[in-house]
Amino acid sequence: MTKVHILTRCEHCQGQAYLPVGEAQDYQGNTYTRFAPCSSCDGTGKSGKWVELSEFARLLAQAQCKHEHTSFQGGMHFSAGDMWDDLQEVCDDCGANLDKQTLGDTIDDPDDIS
Ligand SMILES: [Zn+2]
Ligand SMILES: [Zn+2]
Repeated sequence: MTKVHILTRCEHCQGQAYLPVGEAQDYQGNTYTRFAPCSSCDGTGKSGKWVELSEFARLLAQAQCKHEHTSFQGGMHFSAGDMWDDLQEVCDDCGANLDKQTLGDTIDDPDDIS
């Protein structure tokens, strides 16, 4: 079975690198969410992964797609006075998440041991 090693988004933290570890209170008594580096990827948001050749071919197709038809998914969120969005641009043709890194960025250099 042929497999290809790629560097991809950390599954554990979904590439966020930092994860909420609980709630704490600031000196004014306001509750806020504490974050800590993801334990799976040490706060890098990336992890190495072996994928099947067929999966690699799908990624390759996404890399070659011109992404002419795209739509946005996600929305705005409010929490504890903070506002953020998780809007993501997704290609209608190949299904690629255009906010994610492309295949050219995900191919792992075998000489890079770090
Ligand atoms: Zn992670
Ligand atoms: Zn596409």
